[in-house]
Amino acid sequence: MKTFSYLVPKTLDEAVSLFESHSDRVMYVAGGTDVMVKTKQGKIAPDYLISLKHLSDLDKVKMNPDTNELIIGALATHRTLETSTLIRRQFPIIHDAVQHIGSTQIRNVATIGGNIVNAVPSADGAIPLIALDGVAKMYGPNGERTVDLIHFFEGPGQTVLEAGEILTEIIIPSQSSHTGGAYQKVGRRAAMELPLIGVGIVLTLEPDSAVCQKARICLGVAAPTPLRTLSAERFLTGKVLNEDILIEAGNIAAEESRVRDSIRGQAWYRREMVSVFVRRMGLKCLKRIEETN
Ligand SMILES: Cc1cc2nc3c(=O)[nH]c(=O)nc-3n(C[C@H](O)[C@H](O)[C@H](O)COP(=O)(O)OP(=O)(O)OC[C@H]3O[C@@H](n4cnc5c(N)ncnc54)[C@H](O)[C@@H]3O)c2cc1C
Repeated sequence: MKTFSYLVPKTLDEAVSLFESHSDRVMYVAGGTDVMVKTKQGKIAPDYLISLKHLSDLDKVKMNPDTNELIIGALATHRTLETSTLIRRQFPIIHDAVQHIGSTQIRNVATIGGNIVNAVPSADGAIPLIALDGVAKMYGPNGERTVDLIHFFEGPGQTVLEAGEILTEIIIPSQSSHTGGAYQKVGRRAAMELPLIGVGIVLTLEPDSAVCQKARICLGVAAPTPLRTLSAERFLTGKVLNEDILIEAGNIAAEESRVRDSIRGQAWYRREMVSVFVRRMGLKCLKRIEETN
């Protein structure tokens, strides 16, 4: 493996200025579970790695009491999210996703920010955050900016981040109390497995009725970037939700998906799984709404 210099800034500004002063062959690294694998495989050969691990303000999971938004720092590890009572109780869709990423050893070091910036179609962490209408906050040479997380991805391994920009936070807007979410990674094994398809759903009902006020369906591995199935979402909105309606929504989402054959699974099977798991996750959302109201 090629050698590299490892730089350890203590502040965001220091990190950005180190990036600018080593603009050739420089990369940020957080947990390193993607960076080190690719470096060992010779797919990347940075001369400098800038560690983000000491930017302690980015390692957080908390509610903003003024806005009731959930703030997830980009350096929060999957294990931090998995073991957070706040996440398990109030955002179980995130818990559904992070608990099955890699193994405990991977989750102990791998960060949610790295999962998002790596931008592979199979990233489990991104799908629930998009389904929750998450917003990505970034900081770089030109200051701070935000973008809706669904628009963060431009293609496999491609994001809107510009040179030197750091993903700092994901902000989840305040959720109505009649909201439920669920995520399922569909794979052949329960651990150490990338998804064949990932299905994340968030449903909000009108208070005291089963009428769907808002629906979000986000799929992983169904397109080059995370995909919201807008026709299926529109189909659900305004309807009294039951299993038959969710079956129809699943069929619409399957048609909207842009799944393809790969070494890990065939398109027809992936499409079938979208249909099945939109129904199942939809039912799980309804159960979670019932349990918390
Ligand atoms: C054995 C194994 C199993 C895995 N299983 C899964 C799985 O089940 N599901 C899944 O989704 N993933 C899985 N992964 C992939 C990986 O663990 C995750 O994508 C992880 O979340 C990456 O986070 P990291 O902190 O290690 O990223 P790093 O490797 O540190 O960085 C990844 C990329 O993001 C950039 N980066 C990191 N943080 C920031 C930031 N804040 N701002 C700007 N750029 C940043 C880096 O420059 C790099 O390009 C697995 C990996 C391994 C090795």
